[in-house]
Amino acid sequence: MEVCYQLPVLPLDRPVPKHVLSRRGAISFSSSSSLFGSPDPRQLSQRRGAISYDSSDQTALYIRMLGDVRVRSQVGFEPERRVSHPYLCIDFRNLHTRLGCSSESASSAPERRVHRLLSFQRYLHSSRLLRGIPQQIPLHILDEDYTGQAQCMLEKVGNWNFDIFLFDRLTNGNGLLTFHLLKQYGLVELFQLDIVKLWRFLVMVQEDYHSDNPYHNAVHAADVTQAMYCYLREPKLANSLTSYDILLGLIAAVTHDLDHPGVNQPFLIKTDHYLASLYRNSSVLENHHWKSVVGLLRETGLFSHLPPEDSLNMERDLGSLILATDISRQNEYLTRFRVHLDQENLCLSKAGHRHFILQMALKCADICNPCRPWELSKQWSERVTEEFFQQGDIEKKHKLDVSPLCNRETNTVGNIQIGFMTYVAEPLFAEWARFSDTRLSQTMLGHMGLNKATWGGLQQEQALTSEEGEPGTDAETAGGAATTAGESSSKEIPQGNTES
Ligand SMILES: [Zn+2]
Repeated sequence: MEVCYQLPVLPLDRPVPKHVLSRRGAISFSSSSSLFGSPDPRQLSQRRGAISYDSSDQTALYIRMLGDVRVRSQVGFEPERRVSHPYLCIDFRNLHTRLGCSSESASSAPERRVHRLLSFQRYLHSSRLLRGIPQQIPLHILDEDYTGQAQCMLEKVGNWNFDIFLFDRLTNGNGLLTFHLLKQYGLVELFQLDIVKLWRFLVMVQEDYHSDNPYHNAVHAADVTQAMYCYLREPKLANSLTSYDILLGLIAAVTHDLDHPGVNQPFLIKTDHYLASLYRNSSVLENHHWKSVVGLLRETGLFSHLPPEDSLNMERDLGSLILATDISRQNEYLTRFRVHLDQENLCLSKAGHRHFILQMALKCADICNPCRPWELSKQWSERVTEEFFQQGDIEKKHKLDVSPLCNRETNTVGNIQIGFMTYVAEPLFAEWARFSDTRLSQTMLGHMGLNKATWGGLQQEQALTSEEGEPGTDAETAGGAATTAGESSSKEIPQGNTES
C-alpha cells in the first residue's frame, strides 16, 4: 500500500501550510523487508553467495577487507550471551562495557528489553555516571545560541562542498544538522513529532557514536546525512519521494553506524564477540546499528503517537535501509541496480522501487568520501585508514592475524584509497550517474577522478623518495599519475582495472 503523505512542494524556507499539518494518522507503508526483531532467513541464505573468501577476484578482495563475514565463529546463536571479552587488557573500552551485566537474565520484562538495547556507548556513560564520573562529551546541541557562522553554513547545507568538519567544530554535534533538515522539509510538523522527544533522540544519537573512533563517529554520520540530503534533492528523487521516504532516508542516514565499535565485522567474529553470535556472523554491525536505533526510538517514544503498526513499519524500513549499507552485499545491490537501469524499468511511483532507490542513495552517501573535494576527501581517507591501522595494532598486540588493509607497515592511505575507488566506489557511482545524470553526479565523478590522480601522484612521489633515499621532486601532486598508483608498496593491494 502506498504511503499517504506526499512531500509538500514548497520552497524549503517557507512554513508548511495548515492543510498539510492536519493529515497525520493513517500512514501505512509497504516493504518487502523482514519484520523487526528477527533475522531474515532469506537474507541469511542469499547474502554471501557471490564472494569467495579465497577468491582472487579483486573487487571481492576489497569488499572482503571491508566487511567479510566468512570467518565463521564456533559459537552458535546465543542472543542472551554475556561473556567477558577475551582481550580484557586491551584499552578498547567500548567492547568491554558489557562486563558486569552478565546477571541479566532472559527475562521478558519490558524494562529488561529496553535495557538490553542500551548501546555500548550509553552503557559506558551510565556506568560512569553511577561511579560519579562526569560526562566527558559535552553536548551543546540543545542550545539555541549556536554561532551565526553555523547558521550561515546551514543555509548552504545542500552544497556538495559543505565542510562538515567545520560545521562539527562550530556546533559540537550533528543533531543540529538533522534537526535543521527535518524542519526544512516540514517533517516535524507533518508527522507531529514532539520537539522535546526529537531533541532527546538526536542528542542520544550523537552520544551513541563513539567520539574516539577516528572515522566511524558522529561526524561521519553527519556527513552521510548531508550527502543523503543532496541526493534527496536530485530531480528524480525530489519529484517522486514521499515525506515518509524523506523522513526515513534522513533518520537512516544519521543512525546508520550507531554505536560502531571502531573495528570491523571480521574482528568481532574472530574475537567471538557476542554481537557476532547474536547476529550469526551476518551483517553483524549493521544489525547492531539498526537495533540500536530501534532502542532509541522506543526509549524516546519519538513515534509513539503513531499507530503501533506504523511505528513498527518505520523500524522495519529503517532496518532495510541500514542493512543495505553492509559493504559485503555491494555486488548484490549493484547487480540489481544495473538490471533495473539496463531494462529501464525503475518506476518511482511504486513504493518498493522508491525504497530501493533510497537504499542505493544511502549506500552512495555512506561511501561518498572519494567524491568530495580533495580537502575534505583527504581528511576522510586519513581517518578511515587510521581506524583500520588501530585495529591492526590491536591484532598485532594480541598475536591475531592482521586484517587486510590494517597493517600500518605495509599499507598507505594512498594505496588503500586507490583500491577502494577502483573496486568499490567507481562502479557504484558510475551506475548512480547513469540513474541520476545530473551536474552533481558529474561533479562527484570528477572529484573522484582528481582525488585518485592525486593519491597516485603522492604514491609515486613517495616511492621515488624511498627508492632514492632523498627528497622527492617538486612534481605536482595532482599530476595525473593514477595509472601508476599503488605499484609501489603493498602486496595486499590488488592491481589492474575492475571489469566494472
Ligand atoms: Zn557509515
